[in-house]
Amino acid sequence: MTQASYIYRKDYIPQTTACNRRPGLSMTASSITVHNTGNPSSTAANERGWLTNPNNTRTASYHIVIDAKEAIEVLPLNEVAWHAGDGSGAASGNRTSIGIEICERDVAAGEYAQALTNAVELIANMLLERNWGVDRLRRHYDWSGKNCPRLMNKDGKWTGWHQFVQQIDTRLKELKASTNQIKRNSTEAALIVNGKKLEHKGEVKNGVTYVPIRAIAEALGATVKWDSQTQTVKIEKND
Ligand SMILES: [Zn+2]
Repeated sequence: MTQASYIYRKDYIPQTTACNRRPGLSMTASSITVHNTGNPSSTAANERGWLTNPNNTRTASYHIVIDAKEAIEVLPLNEVAWHAGDGSGAASGNRTSIGIEICERDVAAGEYAQALTNAVELIANMLLERNWGVDRLRRHYDWSGKNCPRLMNKDGKWTGWHQFVQQIDTRLKELKASTNQIKRNSTEAALIVNGKKLEHKGEVKNGVTYVPIRAIAEALGATVKWDSQTQTVKIEKND
């Protein structure tokens, strides 16, 4: 698989966008829904442009569109978008799910493969941030029966979808492992001076222990002076 490579930017459509495409309803998302744009030639920027194009007469929107180069967040992720095709009931996909459109464009060889790789990276990171697993992923199909994301169902058995979910799961596990590694490399250390536990704590980072020197010195009965001119800590103790 190629490396993920994209920039993430926000370009929100205005509240006044036609056809109620930004209804302004607040949403606490509990899943992420994956789509294909259904347009074999458009880029993410083209798709974003279409949302505010005066010729567009559809009440349809989404949250993020991604292609081989960039991901554009077109609506805040805590606001409703119309992408699931299942109405506006409290439990509908429209009211509970973040919609991600993957561009189908493959004008340059491998462009769609790159968009897919980018989507794997984006979604794995979104799951990590929310402490969600791949059980939170939905197809547009799951909400309304529409054949979407259509390019993941070329064989009518959704093999592409299952592979996509598997790739996200693998990437999510890698991300979790490296996050845990960072946590393991930096741990808090309690400080006890002559049997007395200090309120301050030390920190062990990559095998080196860092401690608040003033708290420790003073607990040992010493005085600490900071000389800002020479950037020096002076510790003195008179017996
Ligand atoms: Zn869709």
